[in-house]
Amino acid sequence: MTATVSTSVAGSWIDGAPVVTGGGLYQVINPATGQPAADYAMATPADVDLAVASARAALPGWATATPADRSAVLAKLAALAGEHADDLVAEEVSQTGKPVRLATEFDVPGSVDNIDFFAGAARHLEGKATAEYSGDHTSSIRREAIGVVGTITPWNYPLQMAVWKVLPALAAGCTVVIKPCELTPLTTLTLARLASEAGLPGGVFNVVTGAGSDVGTALAGHPDVDLVTFTGSTAVGRKVMAAAAVHGHRVQLELGGKAPFVVFDDADLDAAIQGAVAGALINTGQDCTAATRAIVARELYDDFVAGVGEVMGKVVVGDPHDADTDLGPLISMAHREKVAAMVARAPGQGGRIVTGGSAPDRPGSFYRPTLIADVDERSEVYRDEIFGPVLTVRSFTDDDDALRQANDTEYGLAASAWTRDVYRAQRASREIKAGCVWINDHIPIISEMPHGGLGASGFGKDMSDYSLEEYLTIKHVMSDITGVADKGWHRTIFTKR
Ligand code: NAD
Repeated sequence: MTATVSTSVAGSWIDGAPVVTGGGLYQVINPATGQPAADYAMATPADVDLAVASARAALPGWATATPADRSAVLAKLAALAGEHADDLVAEEVSQTGKPVRLATEFDVPGSVDNIDFFAGAARHLEGKATAEYSGDHTSSIRREAIGVVGTITPWNYPLQMAVWKVLPALAAGCTVVIKPCELTPLTTLTLARLASEAGLPGGVFNVVTGAGSDVGTALAGHPDVDLVTFTGSTAVGRKVMAAAAVHGHRVQLELGGKAPFVVFDDADLDAAIQGAVAGALINTGQDCTAATRAIVARELYDDFVAGVGEVMGKVVVGDPHDADTDLGPLISMAHREKVAAMVARAPGQGGRIVTGGSAPDRPGSFYRPTLIADVDERSEVYRDEIFGPVLTVRSFTDDDDALRQANDTEYGLAASAWTRDVYRAQRASREIKAGCVWINDHIPIISEMPHGGLGASGFGKDMSDYSLEEYLTIKHVMSDITGVADKGWHRTIFTKR
């Protein structure tokens, strides 16, 4: 497959049509080559106003469409996305540098399945039974779309992150304005186009592209946006929350992670080694749930370090368009410099670089798979999100120590525990503070199950029926069923003497 995307694209999608907006021209760079992949006109804050107005105008029609009608459009979108899978893969590979195998087997089919899931979920918005809870009234629950949703997404999984935010919103009857990361807008724009082709009314799904500093802040702090959903770094997530708080608007935040990977002494060592390499290197480690802190029983420590080092050494780093490539580049040269600088500082903080720790001699922002053993608990590589193909390892003495180390982080997005002891597995799944705990695996996600963190990893859920809660308000409707003017409870307020 040739995955070169070289067309000039309209940078925004507003009111059901492509719009060449008034911001400057932005060049999307293919990180594998350093060469331009596409360019587009960025939006301005005035375009954000237009997009939000378009979403507001489309809201009454979409919010009152029947679940069956909403579901039909979303199901058509899933089918169209499946038919255009090759185009989506090509765009995703060229703008992110992710290996074509990952985009083909994970990003795109996962996104199509997620769209399909929400097409079905649109018809299952249920609530508490209508009933006479007081005796004198019938109570019922209305679940109503929260309104206009502003969404801001990152560059690591551009299509999946857009789908995770936009689809539950649409299923719930909301209208959306999304700002993808300026580095990677292509698949989000294609998704909006396909949604229009699927029959989504104009204004229901708008895209504005551009930098976080102007377009992002304008959307996060927009007075006419009812909910802001965000996936990205913890630092920016907090700014988004502050901007939305000015208007008292609701937010949902999916932020950074620093997932522990706990290997107990009874674990299947080979499975743990392979799981650690896959969990650490997925998407070149640019994954919020990636395994980053291996915490390994002292008895297995040396064999684990040797095994992970050996498997990492066999990983094929290369052209992401080649189906044999395992590891693509980091998103940009600037990001590679950040990763390289953190790794370079590690030995000074007690870490031992077992393998990797350098960039291969080739164009593009590549960085070798890196294993750092014996890291200190206070060291930067152990505490802070690196977001690169870097795994750190520490040992533990007993189960209490293992779980203490697993929870010794401000983040709480994901974790895994490796053991053949059912009681240990149950204890780890209960005591590790994270939105997801895998047992004897690390990374798999599924549309039916929620994704989301706690602590510095944010709050609220993506995927699954749980995510619909973010996009709905719950209204209690209470109707008198007695027809009596002189109601019993009035006596607590006044009596007619
Ligand atoms: P980022 O926070 O730098 O940017 C995310 C988005 O916010 C981009 O679209 C950016 O343009 C925009 N933005 C930047 N400044 C802004 C501002 N002041 N106001 C409004 N918007 C602004 O994150 P990134 O580097 O694109 O992505 C990597 C981060 O995303 C990592 O921390 C990773 O852990 C996190 N992430 C989390 C999840 C999750 O589900 N928890 C999933 C994927 C990525």
